[in-house]
Amino acid sequence: MTQTPKKIAIVGSGLVGSLLAIYLQKRGHSITVFDRRPDIRTIKFSGRSINLAMSDRGWRALSQIQIEKEVKKLAIPLDKRAMHVVGKPLYFQKYGKEGEAIWSISRGVLNRKMIDLAEGTGVEFRFEEKVWDVDLPQAKIYTGETEKGEWKAYDFDIVFGCDGAFSRVRHKMQRRSRFDYSQDFIDVGYKELTIPANEDGSHKLDKNSFHIWPRGRFMFIAMPNLDGSFTCTLFMPFEGEISFEKITTKKEAEKFFKTHFPNVQKEIENLTTDFFANPTSALVTMKCYPWTYWDKVALVGDAAHAVVPFYGQGMNAGFEDIYFLDQLMGQYGDDWETIFRTYQEQRKPNADAIAELSYRNFMEMSSKTADPGFLLQKKIEKWFAEKHPDKWIPAYSRVTFSNKPYAEALAIGDAQEEIMKEVMEVPDIEERWDSPEVEQMILDLLQ
Ligand SMILES: Cc1cc2nc3c(=O)[nH]c(=O)nc-3n(C[C@H](O)[C@H](O)[C@H](O)COP(=O)(O)OP(=O)(O)OC[C@H]3O[C@@H](n4cnc5c(N)ncnc54)[C@H](O)[C@@H]3O)c2cc1C
Repeated sequence: MTQTPKKIAIVGSGLVGSLLAIYLQKRGHSITVFDRRPDIRTIKFSGRSINLAMSDRGWRALSQIQIEKEVKKLAIPLDKRAMHVVGKPLYFQKYGKEGEAIWSISRGVLNRKMIDLAEGTGVEFRFEEKVWDVDLPQAKIYTGETEKGEWKAYDFDIVFGCDGAFSRVRHKMQRRSRFDYSQDFIDVGYKELTIPANEDGSHKLDKNSFHIWPRGRFMFIAMPNLDGSFTCTLFMPFEGEISFEKITTKKEAEKFFKTHFPNVQKEIENLTTDFFANPTSALVTMKCYPWTYWDKVALVGDAAHAVVPFYGQGMNAGFEDIYFLDQLMGQYGDDWETIFRTYQEQRKPNADAIAELSYRNFMEMSSKTADPGFLLQKKIEKWFAEKHPDKWIPAYSRVTFSNKPYAEALAIGDAQEEIMKEVMEVPDIEERWDSPEVEQMILDLLQ
């Protein structure tokens, strides 16, 4: 169904705001994107920033507007995890079936590309223009240099809040009665570090792997960049025995890396320099509802649902919001009220599901990886899934290599967990875990 052209404001030129701008412009609307920051394309930028894992949901949203191939040129496929576990030689774990991969892409590089593509379709960007207030019923926005200074007012037909986890647009909606809102910070923070390329520009570690050094309460990961470097992230508690607060000198940082990450010794100089140059950032789950105000205002991406990054799905979920909104625009045309109502009703349970899955993954990584019972359970699940790939699809594959709803992945995951609880009660399960009886038991429980 076609739509009558509207004058639309998007607050936020991040990944979600710029992709939404392309979608809406292609539908014939007139789009202005506001961002409080300068144009990311004008900032001196090494090409290294947070790296994101793009998976099937993200790619589907890009392929719907035929930009998937162009973006793939900026990304590196990772078909496996490279596990750097204490006391074991490096080993690899395939992510999914043959041909399935997640893709490492720099957030900064992707954001620049999306803004270029949006501008190419006729979207207007207004950088360094912070939105301070929104008149929800009138779809009017107010921008200015300071909160107390002079503001400029702009009239629109519709406003999309794509202004991230600490959204100003949502802030205005929060002041309304019956608006639910929660935010939960975890006690773990993160820091970005870099492993530079070899002198010849090649990668120092296998470039088609997602590298993980799991250490219980803390963890180090590395994802490749096109220039041969790796962007690494250290996740660690803010406080406590092993924590960010305990590392205050270069010597302490060196000792920390030497003790816990023996196979990155050659990179120590770089890692310890980055450790003090880069900030330690917090991680939050943010939930809210409703996401829309009649046919005037809608929140999309992190502004509506921010999740901790342990499933690599925040951006993917935001891109899926856009894909879904576009489907509704095709279905309901000018009936924006129905589009927005259906959007929030159907997306909210899925956003809650990916928040829960992401949080559980954090708990698994931080507290269960050393638990022998948990490791045995994972081994049994893997063994059974390999024998019966049609009957047991792991939650990770349902989330990452499918477009089925997140809520379905969570529900099936919970049902699988119940089955595994019974299996783990089998006497001598440590000895009999790969026996025909256990296999039959799982098959019966799946009936
Ligand atoms: C460590 C880490 C790792 C992650 N890894 C992954 C991953 O592997 N895969 C994945 O899918 N996701 C990942 N994510 C999540 C992903 O980064 C976010 O979900 C995604 O960037 C959200 O995009 P967004 O456009 O909604 O919000 P943002 O990227 O936060 O963009 C918001 C924009 O709004 C602008 N803005 C804010 N307030 C105003 C205002 N008042 N006026 C004007 N402009 C404003 C900001 O300047 C910004 O440009 C990760 C996140 C973190 C922290």
